[in-house]
Amino acid sequence: MAFTKKTVRDADVAGKRVLMRVDFNVPLKDGVVTDDTRVRAAIPTIEYLKDKGAKIILMSHLGRPKGDGPEPQFSLKPAADKLAEITGYDVKFVDDTYGEKAKAAVDALADGEILVLENVRFDKREKKNDPEIAKILASYGDIFVLDAFGTAHRAQGSVVGPAAYLPAYAGFLLEKEVDTLTSIFAEPERPFVAIVGGSKVSSKIGVLDHLIDSADTLIIGGGMAYTFFLAQGMSVGLSLKEEDWVERAGEMLKKAEEKGVKILLPIDNRVADHFGEDAVPEVVSSDAIPDDREGMDIGPETEKLYADAVKAAKTVFWNGPMGVFEFDNFAHGTEAVARAIADSDCTSIIGGGDSVAAINKFGLADKMSWISTGGGASMELVEGKALPGVEALLDA
Ligand code: ADP
Ligand code: MG
Repeated sequence: MAFTKKTVRDADVAGKRVLMRVDFNVPLKDGVVTDDTRVRAAIPTIEYLKDKGAKIILMSHLGRPKGDGPEPQFSLKPAADKLAEITGYDVKFVDDTYGEKAKAAVDALADGEILVLENVRFDKREKKNDPEIAKILASYGDIFVLDAFGTAHRAQGSVVGPAAYLPAYAGFLLEKEVDTLTSIFAEPERPFVAIVGGSKVSSKIGVLDHLIDSADTLIIGGGMAYTFFLAQGMSVGLSLKEEDWVERAGEMLKKAEEKGVKILLPIDNRVADHFGEDAVPEVVSSDAIPDDREGMDIGPETEKLYADAVKAAKTVFWNGPMGVFEFDNFAHGTEAVARAIADSDCTSIIGGGDSVAAINKFGLADKMSWISTGGGASMELVEGKALPGVEALLDA
């Protein structure tokens, strides 16, 4: 319903060369993949194509190479090895992307075989969306599949380029992500509780605006809460604040009131005298934040308030930690909210790089209905924006 593009199910892939953009932008340490979530997320489409007897050519970026040629620490070889390890498939790898060597490796593929090309960003033209790049990549395939949800918001050569030359379809991950993250706002089961945290109002303004249009309750936590406090005329000590956004925060509170959206802000906070791993939390109520203290997490009373709101919800969307969860002393609020969601049988959708990292840290990932694999891309969808990668695909 919410997904209006053709998917691999609509394509005749048997014996065809399928050029697929995946998101294998995985974290590496000493050449080993430390989190294989993104590789796993691409497997359903890869399996499907393999079972149908397609020749599968996978491409991705990894990290931020300069774009002047190969940089070994950004090679996709470890991701290709990980794919082989998880699936048991023979996964071929070629240390070339746009040259003769890559072409030869593609030409040597038999039906059902899988080839991973080297990092598409080893050439500057990728990020510039240079048509030359798109033409070379498109020459490797008979059809193009986009399954890289995490980069679908970027109009770059390997993401949108091949769609100009080849029939272009969505992979299953892309379909599921877009469908989930758009239908939740179109027709949520109510009450719909949205939770937004993280550091800044400025980086979440589009998300907040969009959520006020569909949520019944909007819970605010994290560093951004203090800018809302300022908008209410409260003092926030040394807490993170964005003076330029106070007025906008105030307008948002007003808009929520007009629309009948309930806004919950922290009633107490864990504050400290400095920002650091070793900082010691003290609990203070929100109307009594000392001038020499900085808010680092929501407090215990707020945890209860937010957990109760989550308990009453049928649908929960969450983006942005409730505090500086990277420090154990200030991870409590984020964990309490995560546990409340995990314990509820509501539909729960989580987006955002740090929020997902937090949920993984607490080991609660399998208790959530859907965890988005895309940070920036999921936020753009939640803001109601169209993703260029998706736009370029064939309409269903
Ligand atoms: P996401 O990646 O899930 O979208 P953000 O990037 O918006 O989340 O925010 C995450 C960051 O916000 C974390 O690094 C966290 O430490 C920070 N943060 C949360 N609460 C506070 C706070 N009270 N003060 C400073 N930083 C905070
Ligand atoms: Mg982040």
